[in-house]
Amino acid sequence: MLQLYIPLNFLGAVYRDLKQSLTDMDRMFGLIHVVQEVADRPDAPRLAVAGGTVRFEHVDFAYEPTRRILEDLSFTIEAGTTTAVVGHSGSGKSTLSRLLFRFYDLDRATGGRITIDGQDIRDVTQDSLRAAIGIVPQDTVLFNDTIYYNIAYGRPSATRDEVIAAARAAHIHAFIESLPAQYETTVGERGLKLSGGEKQRVAIARTILKNPSILIFDEATSALDSKSERAIQHELGLIAQDRTTLMIAHRLSTIVHAEQILVMDHGRIVERGTHASLLNAGGLYAQMWALQQRAAAATEQAATAREAA
Ligand code: ADP
Ligand code: MG
Repeated sequence: MLQLYIPLNFLGAVYRDLKQSLTDMDRMFGLIHVVQEVADRPDAPRLAVAGGTVRFEHVDFAYEPTRRILEDLSFTIEAGTTTAVVGHSGSGKSTLSRLLFRFYDLDRATGGRITIDGQDIRDVTQDSLRAAIGIVPQDTVLFNDTIYYNIAYGRPSATRDEVIAAARAAHIHAFIESLPAQYETTVGERGLKLSGGEKQRVAIARTILKNPSILIFDEATSALDSKSERAIQHELGLIAQDRTTLMIAHRLSTIVHAEQILVMDHGRIVERGTHASLLNAGGLYAQMWALQQRAAAATEQAATAREAA
């Protein structure tokens, strides 16, 4: 279900431009469906972010009644720290980020709860919650609009200089300057098609501009080659500094400095700790690490062999 990856604020752009393609209409209806699953109470207050401590308490979740996806998940991301989540594909990592962004509400009777600075996220307005969280999703869908609009969307009141600074930090400014109409180039399904990595950089620039208290990176650099990934990872590290960050990681080498690493398997947290303590424990994390190290060494060897030939 592609629409679940699209930020709900996509609706704004859909309404903004009524000349939408059929695909956009599809998405819009898909989104309205999602929106209806989550409703604000009429008297819901706004989220008040102090430090931004995020807490999952005994979270159980299923998309469909018969298939449980998350089981009794509890963890805390202390204000201003980074918690990384790793695990095989399908283990439930992205579901965590969708729940924190409140694409779905947990069942009040059986689902546990998610709080930010002590406030149950079901009890505050969706607007205020989503204003506090910046998310770089696994698959970014761009608006059919200029690349400038796509970045400025993070904070529509931003000045042009701020938009360009965000693009520079996301390492996409030079690329934009090379486009036919630079920042005024239309992108998206009916404009210039960007690669996965370029779209990720746009999403990163948008989030840098938004400057939220809480960050979610869902394999935010997975579409980049490892050299670009290292460069952007450095920028992401700067943004994440002193901010509460949930970082879903693809390459383990990008999260070795996280204050806490959660290892997920089949919807459960099976290990948790720092990089060093998890390596020491010699469990699933240590296995994954060894595997990725070997793969990286093999890639390097192949490159050296190519150069020598
Ligand atoms: P990960 O990010 O770790 O790869 P996800 O959180 O995306 O895993 O998915 C966890 C499980 O939930 C997978 O088995 C996936 O097929 C299932 N799933 C994800 N989204 C939906 C959905 N909208 N409806 C039903 N099942 C879903
Ligand atoms: Mg995922």
